[in-house]
Amino acid sequence: MGPPASAATFHPPPRDSVLSYRRAVVKSTPTSMIAQCARNGVGSRLEVTTNGSRLKGDTAQQLLESGLTYLRLSVYSTSDNGYREATGSRFLATEIRDNLLAFRSMRDAAGIRLHIHAELVSNNLRDTPEEFRSQYAEIADTIGIKSLHNWGSADANQRLVQFGHSDRLVCPLPFYELVVKANGIVTVCCVDWNNKLAVGDANINSLIDIWNGEGLRALQAVHLSGRRNTLDSCASCTAFHGHPDNLDMLVTRVPMNGPQDLDRTAVFSL
Ligand code: SF4
Repeated sequence: MGPPASAATFHPPPRDSVLSYRRAVVKSTPTSMIAQCARNGVGSRLEVTTNGSRLKGDTAQQLLESGLTYLRLSVYSTSDNGYREATGSRFLATEIRDNLLAFRSMRDAAGIRLHIHAELVSNNLRDTPEEFRSQYAEIADTIGIKSLHNWGSADANQRLVQFGHSDRLVCPLPFYELVVKANGIVTVCCVDWNNKLAVGDANINSLIDIWNGEGLRALQAVHLSGRRNTLDSCASCTAFHGHPDNLDMLVTRVPMNGPQDLDRTAVFSL
């Protein structure tokens, strides 16, 4: 990985862009980077996804003061036993909830405009929607529920029961978003940890040029020609199985020969 890209070096982003930092909040959580992005107007929404284990003390205070506008908390179980089962960590479900409760109080006391979204990410039938709602509806601004998934095929062997649309050919994410990594590399989804789906570099090109570029078109063409399984990151990825949108009906409309033959109208008429 190269040096971190400066927020000031990015070209002006689309109005509804989201700057998202998706990983556990750890000691190195880049609050200074978030603050820099806020100062430079990078992204209309500055978002962090966290498991909440370190969402406390100085880290919580710095996050609140950073200019962050959206905090997404992933909750892996509603019970302490379930949490340890799912994560294999020493953290407890009660601890995670307590952290968010304190964070919410700090936010409200400071009058900071920051949206808190809590989502249950579990396939454990003991984690019922009712229980999750009773624990988080009064703490978070919004709540949601989704199933566990692997990340960019990285955990293809994990023993997860996958819910959702496991028979889908096309992943919709390369048609929705660009994800800019800390070093400026641009890829198509937040679970492409190893950058195998990289389609550009924000240090060199504007996001709009990357969005309209050949790299992204080629990747979209692979998905739309039913060849997702030829991409290392996508082959056994299940991250999109719970996604409501189905692009499979476009598969037969796209020629197999690559981006030069891609029916662009088909892609953009969704
Ligand atoms: S299949 Fe998985 S890795 Fe591939 S683009 Fe979709 S979410 Fe990303």
